[in-house]
Amino acid sequence: MGDYHVHLHPHGPERHLGPEPGEYPPGHIEAFVEAAFARGEDEVGFTEHLYRCVESTEVLGEFWLDSSNPLVQAHTAAFVADDRVLSLEKYVTAVEAAKDRGLPVLLGLEVDYFPETIDAVSEFLAPYPWDFLIGSTHWIGAWSVDHDGADFEFERRGVRTAYEDYFAIEAQLAASGAVDALAHCDVVKKHGRRLDGPLDHLYQPVVAAALASGTAVEVSSAGLHTGAGEPYPAPDFLRMFYEAGVPITTASDAHFPEHCARDFDTIKDYARAAGYTERIRFRSRRREMVPL
Ligand SMILES: [Zn+2]
Ligand SMILES: [Zn+2]
Repeated sequence: MGDYHVHLHPHGPERHLGPEPGEYPPGHIEAFVEAAFARGEDEVGFTEHLYRCVESTEVLGEFWLDSSNPLVQAHTAAFVADDRVLSLEKYVTAVEAAKDRGLPVLLGLEVDYFPETIDAVSEFLAPYPWDFLIGSTHWIGAWSVDHDGADFEFERRGVRTAYEDYFAIEAQLAASGAVDALAHCDVVKKHGRRLDGPLDHLYQPVVAAALASGTAVEVSSAGLHTGAGEPYPAPDFLRMFYEAGVPITTASDAHFPEHCARDFDTIKDYARAAGYTERIRFRSRRREMVPL
């Protein structure tokens, strides 16, 4: 089956290594599919970031204004201005055209979650022919929690408060039912900032909300390549999802072809260790279970 978290354009300092923003040159989508095939996967679900598309400007609003820290506010305002260079229309057209060429690709989107605007975002996205949507807590208010350039906010907020704030929003995302799967659901650990002791009390509301709303969770190899040093979600967190009966997808969060389906043997073993024997296959926002 497939890699269900893949981007076609790299960010910021790596942008020159990909195609021109918003362009999908011949062979570009094919290169991701070939990389997935080489690793034994047979489809690729693309998930461009909603916030990177110029069409999201109005519906997401100026979310960086919601901050008690001017540094955080300035960081996110500059980061979004620099990174919002893609076109949702061109992205959808490029992936649909790849389907028409017979490529085994799916049209997905990584939806950046803000409690205030998620209903408007769902309405905005409704007309498009999505195969699946993944949801991410990238921002706590104005703070870009997983961005290397905003790591300083951990010092001001404290790691415990940062974790509590993060998981409170993640639980709201899981409860919203707005997306089909939770992306990197403990990405707050990305920089290697750790809270001592079991985190079950932070995980449990997310697991319960995902179960209640019918939202799946992705098992992502991306965490292996960050300060976290382990997949998303953490072993205890994934076991809780399994015991609750929340299904999984498999994901790399690739931004380059060579990272597509990266370390999938590792994350499949990791999911099996938590108890999983199946994963989801999506079509037109409907799911079926297939062997892991
Ligand atoms: Zn993300
Ligand atoms: Zn992503």
